[in-house]
Amino acid sequence: MIIIMEPKASEAQVQRVIEFLKSNGFEIRFNRGEVHTVIDALGDKTTVTPGRIAAFDGVKEVKVIREPFRLASRDLKSEDTVIEFSNGVKIGGNNKPVAMVGPCSIEEDYDGLLKVAYAAKEMGCQFLRGGAFKPRTSPYDFQGYGEKALKYMRNAADETGLLTVSEVMDASDLDLMCDYIDVLQIGARNVQNFKLLHAVGKCNKPVILKRGLASTIREFLLAAEHIMYNGNHNVILCERGIRSFDSAFTRNVMDIASIPVIKKYSHLPIIVDPSHGTGQRYLIEPMAKAGLIVGADGVMIEVHHDPENALSDGKQSLPIPMFKEVMGRINELTDRLHYEKECLSANVVKEI
Ligand code: PEP
Ligand code: MN
Repeated sequence: MIIIMEPKASEAQVQRVIEFLKSNGFEIRFNRGEVHTVIDALGDKTTVTPGRIAAFDGVKEVKVIREPFRLASRDLKSEDTVIEFSNGVKIGGNNKPVAMVGPCSIEEDYDGLLKVAYAAKEMGCQFLRGGAFKPRTSPYDFQGYGEKALKYMRNAADETGLLTVSEVMDASDLDLMCDYIDVLQIGARNVQNFKLLHAVGKCNKPVILKRGLASTIREFLLAAEHIMYNGNHNVILCERGIRSFDSAFTRNVMDIASIPVIKKYSHLPIIVDPSHGTGQRYLIEPMAKAGLIVGADGVMIEVHHDPENALSDGKQSLPIPMFKEVMGRINELTDRLHYEKECLSANVVKEI
């Protein structure tokens, strides 16, 4: 790390910083300019964090060269992480993007859920998604059907040959959820619930980690780091839009650029969720495509058999006929992108 001292920092203040770093095993080089003294410290930042140095009197700024996320970083692992399921489905790397679709909440109409699951299977999707424990902004909104929903979801997924994705809100639900669910989801509102991140870090199920409403990309990757640090390296990131100042036409602001940025700095797979990202049915197709074009490893889309009567997020859910049309066009795009990727990796140019 590089420590820039205040112009008026005294010699004693400079020496105190240097002595502290040296006593913690850091190698020091320093440069006394006309105005600033700059200290270049090489060493292990797990015990001496930049925040601790910033607290010393006379320190103006501490700059870190290496990213604070390590296990999630490409510096440590350059090749893409690929997550593989027992049925052969793979997420990440050069694999074809996957699709996770289903209602926001799993509701009591099992036949309706089954219709969605059959449509998902027909359109080549691999995962059925749906909430059993719902993180709702208002306590008066529908909170989810809990275990009953998990059972419905498992049955519908088994009948149609899909994997299941559902959100865990509390570590005490993990044992129950692991009986029914193939991929645990951490929702946007829990991205910095560190105890929950640690708990899923100790599970042997892959985890979808959604970007928080106000997470920077660094904070998002550090949240993934919390899961990985606890042992679970099967983390799938999900860009689902962030809160910004203009909510007139979209529920959130989709940060499409975060996808290639994350691909550059991390080896973890990342999927795109245009349903929560925009909150608008008509924006799902273009934003899913945008995410895939810039490198997303999959899409998450809300689909409901009767959106007008959905218990949550009906406005952003696709009805089944529209889902089939949209998914058909998304599939055409993923086929083309995958073909181009293969051509590129084989270093040959073919006619499309
Ligand atoms: C969801 O996937 O239904 C959900 C609540 O998502 P988010 O956490 O991104 O709001
Ligand atoms: Mn939802």
